[in-house]
Amino acid sequence: MAKDEPKDRSKPVLVLFRNDLRVADNRALAAAVQSGKPVTAVFIRDEKDGSRPAGGAARWWLHHSLQRLSEKLAGLGSGLCLRRGPMHETVASLLKETGADTVLWNRRYDPPSAAADAGLKKSLREHGLTAESFDGCLLHEPSRLKTGAGGFYKVYTPFWKALCSGPEPRDPVDAPDKLVCSDRTPKSEKLDDWNLLPKRPDWAGGFRERWNPGEDGAWSRLNAFLETELEDYAEGRDRPFADVTSGLSPHLAHGEITPFQILAALKRKKATGGHDDREKFRKELGWREFCYHLLFHNPDLRNKNFNSAFDGFSWSGDPKNLHAWQRGQTGYPIVDAGMRELWTTGVMHNRVRMIAASFLIKHCLIDWREGEKWFWDTLVDADPASNPANWQWVAGSGADASPYFRIFNPILQGEKFDPDGTYVRHFIPALEKMPAKYIHRPWEAPKDILAQAGVKLGSDYPVPVIDHKEARERALRAYKSM
Ligand code: FAD
Repeated sequence: MAKDEPKDRSKPVLVLFRNDLRVADNRALAAAVQSGKPVTAVFIRDEKDGSRPAGGAARWWLHHSLQRLSEKLAGLGSGLCLRRGPMHETVASLLKETGADTVLWNRRYDPPSAAADAGLKKSLREHGLTAESFDGCLLHEPSRLKTGAGGFYKVYTPFWKALCSGPEPRDPVDAPDKLVCSDRTPKSEKLDDWNLLPKRPDWAGGFRERWNPGEDGAWSRLNAFLETELEDYAEGRDRPFADVTSGLSPHLAHGEITPFQILAALKRKKATGGHDDREKFRKELGWREFCYHLLFHNPDLRNKNFNSAFDGFSWSGDPKNLHAWQRGQTGYPIVDAGMRELWTTGVMHNRVRMIAASFLIKHCLIDWREGEKWFWDTLVDADPASNPANWQWVAGSGADASPYFRIFNPILQGEKFDPDGTYVRHFIPALEKMPAKYIHRPWEAPKDILAQAGVKLGSDYPVPVIDHKEARERALRAYKSM
């Protein structure tokens, strides 16, 4: 606040919360507290600012995360004011209602939100108000990290090297002990009136079992991960049923924890057992940074092929297969288990995301944008950068992408990463009694084995919608003719 030291200490500061639903390592909130002025915390839901409207699963998360944040702020002596409407007008009205002369927020990096925030800052300053923004959700500022030639990075390894050769990440900022509340507290809308929860409450049943949205939930995940799971991370992270990954993605997507906090916690944790899995984990966080870097420089990443050579590709797949894929009814157990995991828990293991995405794009020849949209709607960690960047990576059209001729074999991938079929059995109970030998290829099981396992192919579990070998050859032909 040095530059724009507020003059009147009685006038409140508005702190805008968006994708930063936390009180610790929240630099905007910390700066507001430091100013010594009363703090008014606000969450404005502007569905028309050009940013991507949240999908169904992420809205479920947002509802609960806002509830937790509101409780946390109340514990600190303030509340959270919820408002819906265009950002500029809503901020203007809040300034009037509260008499605030300062607006602070943490930066967003998806291009429409970044543009909206830049516009807001300019207009507030033109009106003589103080407007400041702070870092928080990324370790790097995408506008500042440049290649030697002055462009942006299109390949991950040099990007990561450049990031690591820069200054050490800053230390996280502590949560405030208390907030001075304004005596002109604006009236809040009711969270329940926002209808963020799914119309079909049974959809979210599995989300509730698996997740604890909010800052405390993020910290219990991180602590559990550092205590036990990190040790087997490098080896185990590809095994979908090993449960050794951090599970932090939805918490990061909603800003309940920051990469600065995660890196600081990793630093405090000593390497164990002679191998240091922390580096592998840091690099995964680096992929998140890379995706944001790509999105920042390619605003239409979710619609437009990064590599325009793919623009002429003919997506000639049968739409019926899109439906089968969405429902987990393709007949390929590892794909179907992944799609059912997604539907019931709001996430899918990373390895299986790659297999399922590859199956839709390459086996079914369905446009990657269809898969991206489905993930956007069903993932609790749906992220405007990571989702399109990873879909394009699998399609081969993205930056530093998997080559088009790398077509995952869903049978061999299943056998390699889920050898006993534990993951498949969990999400496809119809195959529970299938012997491991056939769990990833039930259509090859002899009749007596199917009968012993109680499986009637075609009714209990589908026969494959497409033959793997034929699909692979068809995909290679299509890609070659591009
Ligand atoms: P961990 O292995 O514990 O990794 C730690 C963190 O690193 C993650 O929380 C995430 O923030 C980051 N990370 C790890 N892998 C990647 C990656 N490939 N790309 C970007 N960041 C990564 N991740 C999302 O957060 N949101 C999405 O919408 C999303 N969509 C995806 C779509 C496809 C087709 C694929 C193949 C991957 C997608 N990912 C997405 C990346 C990855 O699958 C998830 O980040 C990961 O599974 C989350 O689990 P975790 O937190 O336990 O990961």
